[in-house]
Formats: sequence, structure tokens, C-alpha cells
Amino acid sequence: MKEVVLATRNDNKIKEIVSLLQDINIRFLSLKDFPSLPPISEAATSFAENALHKASIVSQFTGKLALADDSGLEVNFLQGRPGTLSARYAGEGASDEENSRKLLEELKEVPLALRGATFKCTLALVSPSQKKEVVEGKCRGIIALEPRGKGGFGYDPLFYLSQFNKTFAELPLEVKNQVSHRAKAAAKLRKILSEYL
Ligand code: IMP
Repeated sequence: MKEVVLATRNDNKIKEIVSLLQDINIRFLSLKDFPSLPPISEAATSFAENALHKASIVSQFTGKLALADDSGLEVNFLQGRPGTLSARYAGEGASDEENSRKLLEELKEVPLALRGATFKCTLALVSPSQKKEVVEGKCRGIIALEPRGKGGFGYDPLFYLSQFNKTFAELPLEVKNQVSHRAKAAAKLRKILSEYL
């Protein structure tokens, strides 16, 4: 069976990507299977550059096909912040709760009508011969006035979808996987992956 290394140690990303691509005949590994690989910087200012950088390094290090996810939340009122800084918005090593608290603080007093936001996900696939593919997915929503729900990760408790009257953290993963930014990117990747296999 063909192997693909997911260029992440984030359990939530691993769970979502594996479940989105589970019907393809692939054995997924992750950076947890390669503990000697040093941390990879994510210093670029675009999701695509960060994703390509992570996947290139991992494919070179492992000699296998590598798949990286770089994703984040762009809030209209904040001119697209936190964007590529989503994981460390409240500072290096900040928790999901700290990042969400900072976001809520910045949107204090901002009415729901002005709280539009977009989750973006870029998936980069890089082969050992350094052939590169990049796909993107987006999901639009509203930043809730307070966190709701216990599921998911990151900003999920703040990301409200009016069509469900729920946040991502209140929806089962099967439903998030039908509409999310990651689901849309994975649907595009599916075709490309099948050509590699
Ligand atoms: P990075 O791709 O490792 O730079 O981190 C992406 C960050 O964006 C995560 O730490 C989350 O804070 C946020 N993020 C990305 N995708 C999602 C999602 O599906 N739900 C909630 N937060 C997300």
C-alpha cells in the first residue's frame, strides 16, 4: 500500500485529513512516526508557501510522498488577521483558548453583521522527486459573541455557521467534514492523489 506522510504533529488535523481521505487506498503516517525531524518553521506570509515548505522538507527527510496542511482564520473586521498567525495569535506557544480570547477581545462591541470570517486551508503534496501540487479550500462563517460547543479544535467554538445555527464545535465531525475549508481542499486533492497512486 502507498504511504503518505502528513507533515504535522497536530492530532486534530491528522484526524480530519485521515477521515476525509479514508476511502483512498493509502497508509497515512505523520511526523509522530519521525520524531527525529526537527521543528519546521512556518515563517512565510501565505498559507501556500508554508504548506509547500513543510511538505518539501518532510518528503526530503522521509523519502516519501508528503502532505502538509497550512490553515487559518481570516476575519474581515481585522483585515484578514489572524491569518497565517492563527496558531500563535496570542503569542508563541499560546493555547487555543488564549488565541480565541484574544480574538474575542479584538471584536468586543463589534456587531454580528460585521463579524464575517473565512477559514482557509491549503494542502500541499510533494513527492520525493520534489514534484509539487497545491490546492485550497475556504469556508465562510461568523465569529460568535462567545464560545459554544466542545468538539473540534482551534477556533471551532467561535466559528458560527448560520445554515446550521451552530458553531463548528457543536457539529459532529461528519458534518464539519461536508462543509469545511479542509474538506473542500481535500476534495480537490483526491483527484491529484489518485494520479500518484
Ligand atoms: P497551522 O496551519 O499549523 O499554522 O495552524 C493553523 C491554526 O489555524 C490552528 O492552530 C487553528 O488555530 C486554526 N485552524 C485551522 N483549521 C482549523 C479548523 O478546522 N478549526 C479550528 N481552527 C482551525
